[in-house]
Amino acid sequence: MKKLSRKDFLKKTAIAGLAGTALLSGCKSEEEMKEQRKKKASGVSGKRYRWKMVTTWPPNFPILGVGCNLFAEWVEQMSGGRMKIRVYGGGELVPPLEAFDNVSSGTVELAHGCAYYWAGKSAAAQFFASVPFGMNAQQVNAWMYSGGGIELWRELYEKFNLVPYPAGNTGVQMGGWYNREINSIEDYKGLKMRMPGLGGKVLEKVGGTAVLSAGGEIYTNLERGVIDATEWIGPFHDYKMGFHKIAKYYYSPGWHECGTALELIVNKDKLASLPADLQAIIETAAARVNIWMLSEFEARNAEFLSKIETDSKVELRKFSPEILAQLRTYTNEIVSDLTASDPFAKKVYESYTAFRKNIIKWSEYTEQVYYNDIQS
Ligand code: CA
Repeated sequence: MKKLSRKDFLKKTAIAGLAGTALLSGCKSEEEMKEQRKKKASGVSGKRYRWKMVTTWPPNFPILGVGCNLFAEWVEQMSGGRMKIRVYGGGELVPPLEAFDNVSSGTVELAHGCAYYWAGKSAAAQFFASVPFGMNAQQVNAWMYSGGGIELWRELYEKFNLVPYPAGNTGVQMGGWYNREINSIEDYKGLKMRMPGLGGKVLEKVGGTAVLSAGGEIYTNLERGVIDATEWIGPFHDYKMGFHKIAKYYYSPGWHECGTALELIVNKDKLASLPADLQAIIETAAARVNIWMLSEFEARNAEFLSKIETDSKVELRKFSPEILAQLRTYTNEIVSDLTASDPFAKKVYESYTAFRKNIIKWSEYTEQVYYNDIQS
């Protein structure tokens, strides 16, 4: 976008102010508007669409699966029943991690999941989900919607015949459940922890072992000492897993997932075959689920953190600034290696980091002051 000089900006602002009056005087009569609406309504195709949506979540999984069901409901409501989407939990129609390929080939029309699951397809994908020590939910949304993030994401997915939309965010996650104290970076040596993704790679750099455990096995593994620690999501989901009954410490923050974005992916050809209003309805429902999921995570996590404090003997801890600084150094090394071998990942990371640098400066004078001096 062309930059406006101060003078131009003031001129435009004045014109915008005047436009309000012009709009009123130029208003069409009620009759004319009714007529126009009728014409528009008759232009809407009555064709019905029955689409399938697969997800990477267990069926009806709290917030993530439930949000997908709501997305389908909203699309049906907004389209007056012209579009119905049947939602399948992971494994019900296709295995969770095959969602991407199935939407790409058009076997199913759309899917909900998280872009870091597709790191094997393209290293750049994970920047659209979560980067350790990266941006929080509000900043990620600003980058995606207003900072060029979505455009890069679309460019990346285009070769897979997919169109992505931001469709949820977990907010800042927790650092995980530990049966060992973490007082210095040395305490990570020999630590066996369930920690997927880039976070797991950082853990290995500091001498720990990243153990892969399916969701259903984590509790038993932690209880039996097969692992010493695990990360999961945040207080709401973690409480349901029962970790507070078997772990000594609950560490904060989830430096490895500071605002994990979730995605809706739609088959590009199928999307293009829809009338314009249905395409807009999908985009609108995705934006609604984006804000709905984040709001649910924030509200439920706050509620369940208190529950964990009252219902268990778990000690809430925060990683020391020194530990976090060291983990951040290792993260930077890992991300540099990753982007060095993939030009598109480099391009996305450059956009991400430039935006992050700027917005951190802005938040230093706003959000940070607010949290430190007003809300603490
Ligand atoms: Ca997690």
